Amino acid sequence: MVTSDSFLDVAGAEKSFGGVTVLGGVDLQVAAGEFISLLGPSGCGKTTLLRIVAGLLAADRGAIRLDGEEIGARPPHRRDVGVVFQNYALFPHLTVAENIAFGLKARKHPAGEIGPTVRRFLSLVHLTDFADRSVRALSGGQQQRVAVARALAVQPKLLLLDEPFSALDRKLRENMQIELRRLLRELGITAVFVTHDQDEALTMSDRIAVMNKGAIEQLAEPATIYRSPATAFVLEFVGLSSRLSGTVVGQDYDHVIVDTAYGPLRAPGSFVAGASVVLAVRPERIKVNAPGDYAMVARLRDAVFQGSKVQLHFEAKDGDHLVVETADLSDGLPAPGTEMRLGWAVADTLIYPAP
Ligand code: ATP
Repeated sequence: MVTSDSFLDVAGAEKSFGGVTVLGGVDLQVAAGEFISLLGPSGCGKTTLLRIVAGLLAADRGAIRLDGEEIGARPPHRRDVGVVFQNYALFPHLTVAENIAFGLKARKHPAGEIGPTVRRFLSLVHLTDFADRSVRALSGGQQQRVAVARALAVQPKLLLLDEPFSALDRKLRENMQIELRRLLRELGITAVFVTHDQDEALTMSDRIAVMNKGAIEQLAEPATIYRSPATAFVLEFVGLSSRLSGTVVGQDYDHVIVDTAYGPLRAPGSFVAGASVVLAVRPERIKVNAPGDYAMVARLRDAVFQGSKVQLHFEAKDGDHLVVETADLSDGLPAPGTEMRLGWAVADTLIYPAP
């Protein structure tokens, strides 16, 4: 169903290659000014969806509306969409300023407007002093800023970005993430951003669409994706968690009672007795040696110092996984083999059908 109040509205996008379904009827609605990430493992269909919106690939079925207009049948240059790829795709024989001016000239903007527009975007991406340099003489991060400025200079309705920072080193990538977000907010541009990097998606997005096998499993704000993953796949793909397998043995009002290798544990929800389930808890929700109730005693396998926090990995029974993150370093790093009490709130326990 195409609804009218979203700025970008993809409805029922389907795509197969050689009989293999790559997108199985994807719906995606994006509000004006929103920054949406498509996050998922390699091959899940992120790039295919982006290319369909850009018009670089035709969907087998489905509709795309942008700002109230059906654009699905239009060629890429008539969609009012800017695209930035991982490999910059700049014109190597042109200067920085000429690259940014390129789209404006192609769209026959008045000559008197082109200079000021180019200068504005050079300044927005902090490249004013590089205007007359060949793009070949720039670093990777500078080239990617030129690519962003070139895509934005024509003031598209929508900016599509496909892993634009994945070739940059970590520090530069983090700076670019913050700068791009600031720039898009300033300009009020709506953007769809493809990444397989969960930290990048959590940092930058208003909402994240987690994709798996050609479908969106969950579309929600970063905090919701992290705290309340809708499926076991989303839980696995975004962030760490402790995971315990078990069998449902009963129901107590709105809590499920699960028999695990560590004894009975409770989780909010409702499941039929006998169901095989996985219980999960985010690592920072687990308290170590806290007074009061605890769920289990576990033996430490490794303590990993990570600057602002310590990650504790515990010995776990078959197939289970116990990881805790704590910022409390007052007693120093505990030694492997130490037994510790682990406890968490029932409300922080997530429960999924076993895969
Ligand atoms: P990555 O992060 O690796 O880029 P992705 O989620 O962006 O992955 P897509 O590039 O959309 O994935 O590809 C999804 C699937 O479609 C993959 O299995 C890929 O091999 C296949 N595919 C993509 N384009 C084509 C094509 N032109 N012809 C045949 N198969 C294709």
